[in-house]
This record gives sequence, C-alpha cells and structure tokens, in this order.
Amino acid sequence: MYLLYLDDSGSAENPKEQYLVLGGICVYERQVSYFTQELDKIAERLVPGHADSVEFHASEIFSGRIDPWKSLSKDQRRDVIKEVLAVVANSYDSARAFASVVHKASFTPRHAMEVAFEDICSRFDRFLRRVDGKGLIILDESTHATRLVELSHQFRRLGTQWDVIRNIVDGPMFVTSRAFRCVQVADHIAYSVYRRFEAKDATYFDVFAKRFDTDRKIIHGIGHLEKGIEDCMCIGCLSRR
Ligand SMILES: [Zn+2]
Repeated sequence: MYLLYLDDSGSAENPKEQYLVLGGICVYERQVSYFTQELDKIAERLVPGHADSVEFHASEIFSGRIDPWKSLSKDQRRDVIKEVLAVVANSYDSARAFASVVHKASFTPRHAMEVAFEDICSRFDRFLRRVDGKGLIILDESTHATRLVELSHQFRRLGTQWDVIRNIVDGPMFVTSRAFRCVQVADHIAYSVYRRFEAKDATYFDVFAKRFDTDRKIIHGIGHLEKGIEDCMCIGCLSRR
C-alpha cells in the first residue's frame, strides 16, 4: 500500500496571498519507519533526550517565535528546514513528492482547496495505476479540516464524477501531525512549494524538486493550476511542453 501524506500551505481565504498549495509525500508502507527515524535523529540532535517533544513545522521553524527554534539563529533555522527536505531527497526511489499549486483568483468562486484536492487525487491515482498499487491519503487534521471533511464525505460521489480515483482506498484519513513524522515531511514540502510560487523563493524547493513523481521526462507530481500561464517556466509546466 502506498500512503500519500498531505498538508496545505497558504490560506484559501486571505486575499493578500495568491496561491494555495496542497502537497506532500507518497511513501510505500515499509518506508514510513525510514522517515520517522531520520526526523527523530534531527530532533534528538536539537533537543537531546527529548526528540519526541520536537515537532517539525516549516513555518514555525522559519519564523523562530517558539521553542526550540527561538534559540537558533536564522541560518540555523533555515538549515533545519533544508535538512528535513534532504531526508526526502535522499530517500528510497519509490518515495515521490506531489503538490498542487492553485492560483486562487483563476478559480473563483470554487474553493481553492477543492480544486487542489481534486487535482492531487488525480495525480496520485495516475501514479498508482502506473505502479499497479493501491493507495491511501493521510491528511493533517488542521488542513482546512472543515472543507476537507466535507470533501471526504463526498469522496465516493466525487470519485465517480471525476473518474480518477479507482486505486485510492476509501476516503482520506485525518491524523494529528504531532504523532506522524511523515505528516511533518508533507508540511515541509507544501511550505517549500508555497515559498517557490508565492515568494518566488526556491531555496527549499530545489532541495527535493528531483523527487516529484516523474514518468518519461514528464513531471506529473506537480500541478500548477493558473489561467494564462502558457509561458510558465516552472518545472511542472516546462516538462509538459
Ligand atoms: Zn508553471
């Protein structure tokens, strides 16, 4: 079974932000422990003896307002985010990154999260068909929870409507990110993609970008959903030309 851990970055409601990102990592069930161990190692180094108390949330690490990030310098905090993403870059080949980048204004009045969720389900299902596997989606419970719980209730009906989710088992599961290192990895991926599009800062994105799901030189793992971007040079758009 392939598990797709997802988290969101950006706000569907805030008009000052152009994009909403839903993104994360697809991991084969046996590889979950690899990610857990690698993030535990980083946590143990940061707070020896209390690795469990360290929760990796990229935006919190970036801003450095709370412990244990408060005591680190700006550069040290940036390095922690990159280190978490390097775990993705160096992981088993079957681990793949996925992300949907939704330009909110291009889809009004549709809810950006609905657009992103539909797109990422379609990408994940396409991957599952290619590897002939079954998959399950696991979301951080804080991920625009209300909207997604609604969507997950409609999952079966939507599945028929989209005709895209044949290999995804049941609706998405909601978990608390504290307990799942893979959800924390998903948080870092969503955050990096958001920074790449909203702030045009590819510092974090570039660390793991090679791990987006790719087949025959087309990068299927990332979807840039925006009107009027025929000339876009982002890796997803470029690979489809
Ligand atoms: Zn693009």
